Amino acid sequence: MVKPAGRAGFNPEQESSMWPSLVAVLLVGAALFHLRWKRRCEALARSVELLKQDARESAAAHEDDMARSHAEQAVLFESMTEGVIVLDASSRIQVANAAVRQLLDVTMDIRGQTVLEAFRLGDLNALVERVRKEKAGASIEIELPGLAGRTLEVNVAAVLSPNRRLVQAVILVFHDLTRLNELEYTRQEFVANVSHELRTPLSLIKGYVETLIEGAKDDPAVASKFLHTILKHTDRLTYLIEDLLILSKLESGREALNFQREEFRPLVERVVEELQTAASSRQIALVNQVPAELKVRMDVNRMHQVLMNLMDNGIKYGRTGGVVTVTARKAGDDLVEVGVQDNGQGIPVEAQDRVFERFFRAEKARSREQGGTGLGLSIVKHIVLSHGGKVWVTSEIGRGSTFYFTLQGGETATPSDQYS
Ligand code: ADP
Repeated sequence: MVKPAGRAGFNPEQESSMWPSLVAVLLVGAALFHLRWKRRCEALARSVELLKQDARESAAAHEDDMARSHAEQAVLFESMTEGVIVLDASSRIQVANAAVRQLLDVTMDIRGQTVLEAFRLGDLNALVERVRKEKAGASIEIELPGLAGRTLEVNVAAVLSPNRRLVQAVILVFHDLTRLNELEYTRQEFVANVSHELRTPLSLIKGYVETLIEGAKDDPAVASKFLHTILKHTDRLTYLIEDLLILSKLESGREALNFQREEFRPLVERVVEELQTAASSRQIALVNQVPAELKVRMDVNRMHQVLMNLMDNGIKYGRTGGVVTVTARKAGDDLVEVGVQDNGQGIPVEAQDRVFERFFRAEKARSREQGGTGLGLSIVKHIVLSHGGKVWVTSEIGRGSTFYFTLQGGETATPSDQYS
């Protein structure tokens, strides 16, 4: 019998036994594939989470930065010495800093009001409207009503939209010119005073020289008198220039003070000797009553100048045959009070505070006659203040004056202390 033809080597029994292992391989493959895929998905999810976290952190950091920057701006805005007001698009006050509130004496909340409503400053309000219309900056000087003599300069600028058609805000910046104006006034007054002080002796000298040239030189007695007068006026000019230079040096603060803790009595003794001739010419006795061994903290050269000026005044304005006495005493913890007393003409009450002003003279004629510059006491005040002390006068007409000033004993300070 012949077997039916079939595929070479094909064995149906063998084939049916292959399927389970094939399926198993496929299943294992699928499981492995699934596992790998799952891991990749998880890794991807983790990266996405990390990215999200990064984004959250950088958003938080950005918010922190923004908040810090806002806080910094607010502090800057509030601490500016210039007053600043920002108006919104409808000219209403959006914010005003502390300086402006102080300058304009504002105590209420002015947000939402116009410049006119808040301050009643019509000119400033008109300028704001002009700036809005013309879209260009402008400035104005205003005198504040009510606050005596206060002058402000206000710069007004418009903030424009990107296409420059709309005014989005208006910014007002206020500068207080009061102090500047005062300084300018003082400067002008000082220049006028100095010019006057220089011109007076110069024109006198010129007058005497002309008279001499015109013939007075031929009369020896007259010539000698005139020449002595000329000498006196040139001395006055010299003192004036010296005092001006001292004052300018003191005011510029160029020279550092060299503080030393030293005995005060020897310094007074030195000045007594130096002024002896001037005192004798008016039969005035100079008395040093400063206790021996009393020490003060001072710049010796500057303190020499103070004593010179006060004792010289005591001689100039003292009574002929009188006495100028210097005293010093401990006046509290680490404080020494020095007094320079004369028994001369005295100073009227109304002039007592003013004698420390530059060029102020209670008695013009006498001061000039004595070669006074009108700067001596302002130099004294400057030096005493730079020593951390204070200076004042007590005086009675016909009985005399005492100029007092304080110094530190310097018991706690180091000897090499420097002050500039
Ligand atoms: P001056 O060079 O005119 O003396 P000062 O600044 O030293 O300038 O003094 C200012 C003014 O104070 C003097 O012109 C004088 O009128 C008054 N004065 C100063 N010291 C005395 C004093 N001891 N007695 C009376 N008046 C004085």
